[in-house]
Amino acid sequence: MKRVHNFSAGPSMLPLEVLEKAQAELPNYQDSGMSVMELSHRSGLFTDIITEAEKLLRELMNIPDNYKVLFVQGGASQQFAAVPLNLKKNGKADYVNTGSWSKKAMKEAKKFIDVKEIASSEDENFTYIPEVSTSTIDPEADYVHITTNNTIEGTAFRKIPNTGNVPLVADMSSNILSEEIDVSKFGVIYAGAQKNIGPAGLTVVIVRDDLIGNASEQCPTMLDYQTHSESGSLYNTPPTFGVYIAKLVFEWLKELGGLKEMQARNEKKAGLLYDYIAQSDFYRSPVKEDSRSLMNIPFVIPDHDLDAAFIKAAQAEGLETLKGHRSVGGMRASIYNAMPVQGVEDLITFMQKFEKEHQ
Ligand code: PMP
Repeated sequence: MKRVHNFSAGPSMLPLEVLEKAQAELPNYQDSGMSVMELSHRSGLFTDIITEAEKLLRELMNIPDNYKVLFVQGGASQQFAAVPLNLKKNGKADYVNTGSWSKKAMKEAKKFIDVKEIASSEDENFTYIPEVSTSTIDPEADYVHITTNNTIEGTAFRKIPNTGNVPLVADMSSNILSEEIDVSKFGVIYAGAQKNIGPAGLTVVIVRDDLIGNASEQCPTMLDYQTHSESGSLYNTPPTFGVYIAKLVFEWLKELGGLKEMQARNEKKAGLLYDYIAQSDFYRSPVKEDSRSLMNIPFVIPDHDLDAAFIKAAQAEGLETLKGHRSVGGMRASIYNAMPVQGVEDLITFMQKFEKEHQ
């Protein structure tokens, strides 16, 4: 069977074990004579799946009891609107601008509330994570929004800012489940599934109880956290197959040793690649050392004309989707949880070969 090392930023690799389990169970799930895709979302079998998915996610992330887990649709992009609509009290929020996705989140929130940019790294093309000092936070702000991992720029918050009594909201789309975090530091965490959770179409929202039930009047029913909270994410038809695959991914993570083990693996993988780039005079990382992502690693070569040759030659060796985002250029290796260490080692071997041939 052909399987490549897929370095896509998302949708991205899923663990082969998960795909194989889903394949084996596909036509006849637990002797129901149906696939999960064909099961009623109100059936006992699906109730078991969604209940178990939530239980596993709570266990993996150590989610405190005063937080709800919601399985919704619309992607992280929908949360750009859902957050201000649910948290609107004083009608203003503080945003940290660390790249394309933060900008989109701010643009959307501006439709509903006053948005203040309290820190930004735009001055240096988003190659670092700016300092967020507590004194810049408006104590009357409804929330502070950060993007914990910047998928396109390859930066990540290595330290979570202290926002005091102002709820911290995080877009964790590209680093959820990649390392241990303290959920209690956040008011809301949201993430599209298509990187570390499962297939596109599912969005996970983790929200503190006291931030539910205060949505502004204009908030559509489907964006109101209360709708999904009081119905156990079954107000309407949830993305059932996505929830099922997420459950398999959570089981896979638990079996591996949970987020502690995953973090160690991710640090190892990213370390191998950053160390290799650092000692090379050919490749260069555009990102400041203290702001580097464990998940998305952009790198450039001196002659941009060689980018296309790099991508093509890599592809011939089963190393797929290494092209950098069009706004940054160069290359980007996305090495989410499902990427094995071997994938990174094979990439480095290829990079060494390419360097020798083109130096
Ligand atoms: N935020 C971040 C950090 C992302 O990486 C992405 C998708 N790549 C999004 C938001 C948008 O997510 P979605 O496509 O699920 O709306």
